[in-house]
Amino acid sequence: MTKIATTIESQTLGEKEEEPPGKSAIHSSLEEEPPGNRASNRYRFFGHISDSNWNDWKWHFRNRITTVDRLNEYIPLSVEDRAQLRLVTIRYPISVTPYYLSLINPDDPDDPIRKQAVPSVLEITMSSMGLEDPLAEKEDSVVPGLVHRYPDRALMVLTDICPMLCRHCTRKREWQHGGWVRTNNEIEAMLEYLRRNDSIRDVIISGGDPLTLSTRHLESIISKVRRIRHVEIIRIGTRFPVVLPQRIDNELCDMLSKYGPIWLNTHFNHPREITLEAAEACDRLLRSGIPVNNQSVLLRGVNDTVETMLRLCQGLLRIKVRPYYLFQCDEVQGTEHLRTPVEAGIKIIEGMRGHTSGLAVPTFVVDLPQGGGKVPLQPNYVLSQTEEELLLKNYKGHVFRYRNPNQRGYVEEAVVIAGPAGNAINGLLIGTKPKLKKSRGTIDADRVVVRS
Ligand code: SF4
Repeated sequence: MTKIATTIESQTLGEKEEEPPGKSAIHSSLEEEPPGNRASNRYRFFGHISDSNWNDWKWHFRNRITTVDRLNEYIPLSVEDRAQLRLVTIRYPISVTPYYLSLINPDDPDDPIRKQAVPSVLEITMSSMGLEDPLAEKEDSVVPGLVHRYPDRALMVLTDICPMLCRHCTRKREWQHGGWVRTNNEIEAMLEYLRRNDSIRDVIISGGDPLTLSTRHLESIISKVRRIRHVEIIRIGTRFPVVLPQRIDNELCDMLSKYGPIWLNTHFNHPREITLEAAEACDRLLRSGIPVNNQSVLLRGVNDTVETMLRLCQGLLRIKVRPYYLFQCDEVQGTEHLRTPVEAGIKIIEGMRGHTSGLAVPTFVVDLPQGGGKVPLQPNYVLSQTEEELLLKNYKGHVFRYRNPNQRGYVEEAVVIAGPAGNAINGLLIGTKPKLKKSRGTIDADRVVVRS
């Protein structure tokens, strides 16, 4: 990994003379109304911070909470807690944006937002369980930073920097390397690989979080990817809409809108993350022509109930974000305390399917170790199956027989329209005359229908 600490500041936050993100809708609305559904503890924790700073993603980035002592200023921790967490952060550092911190209820040790941001001693006491790199991403790297596992897709990992270090992160192993971004030479090597492999039609730009790069730097990369003719779509994986929605400013959206089709995948895990700030960020993306999908991770004590997932996914639809995947938490060292049995995910999908619109139901997937790929899991609705029929259970548990259309090809051979209308239509089929073979059909008024 190349550490280029001196240039990170300019490549991530952008040059000093760059325009600040500017006054967004957030700014004006904040003056008009109390926080309401906005970051709920903004005024409790950060009442002294001006609106212009609060709406400036660079201010949040510079003021991330990265030490236990700083955390203790907002969230009461016992002496023992502090001692334990200092040990944890030697191995797994802490980073929380002021915005995300303000979503935490400091009085609730089991707060689902807190569990995602604040370290737990269980990260080190249970760390013998799990793997460092469960998805074997290193093995599929074709050049540093470029993962090419599937024929038509490639993953560009541009940086390991994230505005927040999520305690369940699959790439937790990278945290100790301490903040790198790919050099221009490394990026050029990735681009060259993409140019030479015309089977790649889908490029995923990820990290860390790629939106930590300055908009200008990001544009220099995205524009080059877009110039590769066989790359049809670009996908960006980012948690900024959730942990620092101020980053999704007009400057970024205007830039992205020039290089479509771009899809953005984000990572809401709990309904309380759907604040007005987050909704406005997603709205800006959508209005710039960038569809937003959500990939949740199933986490113990965060979103492992039907009720929470229903509220999350219905809330996402209200802000026009499509619930796409619900991931089983990967088998990553330092995350065991947040993992749930696979059955929990299946039960959640069972509790959602049929009880809310299908659009709100994500696909529950397990990402297999050793790079085996994603396997979708769902409740078993098929009680029995023969060539003739299936016995199916619906979402209420009622059982139905379902006739299985014959697999030997009757359908394509058997339907011939008879009668005057039929003659006209059949006449159009000259040269592709359907053969009626040994059908078991009966003739009704104007059709020959095969019925099994
Ligand atoms: S934003 Fe993603 S990559 Fe970054 S710490 Fe969170 S889960 Fe990991």
